Order: sequence, then C-alpha cells, then structure tokens
Amino acid sequence: MILIENAAVATVDPHGREHTTGYVLVGDDGRIAAVGAGRPTAVPAGTRRVDGSGCLVTPGLVNTHHHLYQWATRGLALDETLFGWLTTLYPIWGRLDAEIVGAAAGAGLGWLALSGCTTSMDHHYVFPRDGGDVLAAEIEAARSIGVRFHPTRGSMDLSRKDGGLPPDHVVEDTDEALAATEAAIDRWHDPSPDSMLRIAVAPCSPFSVTTRLMEEAATLARRKGVRLHTHLAETDDEEEFCRKQFGCTPVEYAERVGWLGDDVWLAHGVHLDDSAIAKLGATGTGVAHCPSSNARLGAGSARVRELIDHGVPVGLGVDGAASQEVSHLGAELRQALYTARSRGGPKAMDAREALRLGTIGGARCLGRADDLGSLEVGKLADLVMWRLDGLGHDGIDDKVAALVFGPPARVDLALVGGRPVVERGELVNADADTLTERARRAHRRLMDAG
Ligand SMILES: [Zn+2]
Repeated sequence: MILIENAAVATVDPHGREHTTGYVLVGDDGRIAAVGAGRPTAVPAGTRRVDGSGCLVTPGLVNTHHHLYQWATRGLALDETLFGWLTTLYPIWGRLDAEIVGAAAGAGLGWLALSGCTTSMDHHYVFPRDGGDVLAAEIEAARSIGVRFHPTRGSMDLSRKDGGLPPDHVVEDTDEALAATEAAIDRWHDPSPDSMLRIAVAPCSPFSVTTRLMEEAATLARRKGVRLHTHLAETDDEEEFCRKQFGCTPVEYAERVGWLGDDVWLAHGVHLDDSAIAKLGATGTGVAHCPSSNARLGAGSARVRELIDHGVPVGLGVDGAASQEVSHLGAELRQALYTARSRGGPKAMDAREALRLGTIGGARCLGRADDLGSLEVGKLADLVMWRLDGLGHDGIDDKVAALVFGPPARVDLALVGGRPVVERGELVNADADTLTERARRAHRRLMDAG
C-alpha cells in the first residue's frame, strides 16, 4: 500500500471536498482505500509512506483529444489556418510508419505523464499502406510509459478527388477502414473496470470522411459497445464545408448520421450556436475542449461556459503536438480558465471548475467516471501530487488556485492504478533522454524522406 500524507488534497468528488492537510491511502488492488483530513486512523504495516508536505494531491488529469504521431511534425505550418495547416502536413503524414508513430507516441505520452496526465486517449487516423502496425506501436509506447490509454481507430475515406480535403494517397477504402476498426476492437479493447486499454471508433472529420463511413462507424461502435469520437465544429471553414456539402451545420450533420449520444465525445465544438449546444446537452454528447490548439490555429474559442451550463460533459485535450507544440495537460487548466474568462469575464470560470474539466469532466467523456476522475474510496488510484512550495507557487495559500493560476507545477508523484509512473519529476518506467533521441531520429527520417 502507499500512503501520501501531510499534503493538501482536492478530491474533486461530487461535494468538492478539499483538505488543507490530508492523506490518500492506496490499496494493493490499485484503488483508493481511504482519503481524508489529518491522518488516517490505521495504516497497515509495510505501507510505503510519501511525505506530501508542500504539495497538492489531485486526481490524475485525463487527456480527451490528441494525435500522438504529430510529435514527429512539430513546428511546421506555424502561421496557418486548420485547412492550410492540414494541406501542408498531409503529404508528410502519408510517409508515417510504425517506428515513427511508436517514437512519437513514446515522447508524447512521456511528456504528458510529466505534465500530470494519467489517462490519455489518442486519435489516430493515418494508416499508410506500407506503414506497418501503427496502432500496435502506440499501444506498446503507452505500456512502456505506464499511462492508462484509450487509443481510437480513426479513419479517412474522402479524398480530394471526391470533394474532401486530404490527398488520395492518405485515405483508406471505406470497407477496409471499417474492417480494420472492428479488428482493432476485437484485438485490444478491454471493457473491465480496471482497464488500461480501451479502443474507440473515430472517423476523422466531416471534410475527410464519407457519410457512409460516419453512419456505419456509429453502427459498428454500438454493436461492439465502444465509444465514438470525431472532430466537429472546429473552424469556420468546416462550417462552410458542411453547409455546402450537406446543407446544414456540423451538429445537424452529426445528428443526421447518428452521432449524438452519451457514447459520443467530439473534439473542439468551437463554432456552436445555441441550438447546437442545447442538442449536445440534451443528448449527453461530450466535448473535448482544446483551448491552446484552437488559439494556435486561430480557430476561435469554444463557448465552454454555455456548454457546461447545458450539462454537456466537457473534458480537456492538448490536441496533436503539431497544432499545439506545448502539449502540456497541466498548463491546459489555466488555458481553459483564461479562454472562458476572455469570452465571459472573470466569473465565467474558477480554478476548481478548470480542475473539474481536467479530471472528472475528462473521465465522463471517456466513459470512465465510475472509476476515474475523482479521489473517492473505491475508485482507481490514478492521482498526481503537485509540488507547490517552490519559487513559482509559494505564497499562494489556496493550493488549487496555485496549481491553476500559477506556472505549470512539477509532478512529484503520479500514480496509475496505484503504480508510480512519475517520481520527483522523472519518468519511472522510461528515460526522457532516450525518448527524445528516438523521437529526434524519427522526425529527421520523416522530414528527409520528402
Ligand atoms: Zn485533433
């Protein structure tokens, strides 16, 4: 067992319980055995004790939108809109292979863990014909870091010749994409409550996927009991594409193809009118809010206050590292707060609500709220101990405010199912220099092949 003591604790439970000085006791089953103020009444012999003085313990952060492969193409198309950025990068991504994706995923997930993330999804939708098993490569990378992983089997089947945005050579045949998606679920998906690996179905976006693939992907996911994810309402260009191609808004299109429901979470949701927000709320459709990526691409800012007020499950996402080079989930707490306030004033979001988005909100998007997202007895021991007594944070007495308003905090300890993945700001299961070197080689080989 592990006992974290003498720490500030923000449980993010339904009552918002916090302890100025408290403890979390983690059982050998990888779940939380006790959490509270002061000291625990009984600590079994042999328990590892961790002194949390100067630290805040929160639930581990949940990343609800990412493209790990993009670590290999950071720093490109720096001043483009989404469509300009995509058309620059598609030809490069067409040369991806399993080694490049594995290297990028290792670097991306290692960096995420160091930023306080204990569960991440990944949206992978580029499957070059001779690229090898790229999904297996990123799953192996997640195992090597130790984070909980929800990769999605993405797809694109609408290329330029059919009116889509991607070039012909990066899309798949519709039936092949569906068959490969079903095979990925059969091979990898673990529905158990302790699951470290779940698959979701994720056609890429309205402008890169046919209507038939959207509809049949939804049918497949529901037949298999897995979740659905896609990009929606990210930019004005997409809105214009949907109006021209389908005669409706992106959310009306999603409704038409069976893509609203509590088993669906959508990336971005930036350009939503009142009726779209009401539809998402009424159907329980989630949104992965990616404020830094939206700002980097100049896509706009999501109406996150209104989404929350309509009961929409909202989580945070760093999005791919090529559209948001920081890729730091801890930093996204502040970006979400600032984005809400830049739209709606200083009352639009507080530090605790930002933390809820990054934890329980993300767990709801991924369908894991029963087991993740808050520090409650019986839930999985996925937690982060943030160091807040250094130069950057000391003197901010409200520790949740220090975490969200202050600079990104060092992760002193991150547990996934009670197992350490970060200790004293270092990865436990992998070496950051090795990850960097492998990713550097992958990036160079990808760029030089063009
Ligand atoms: Zn994305």
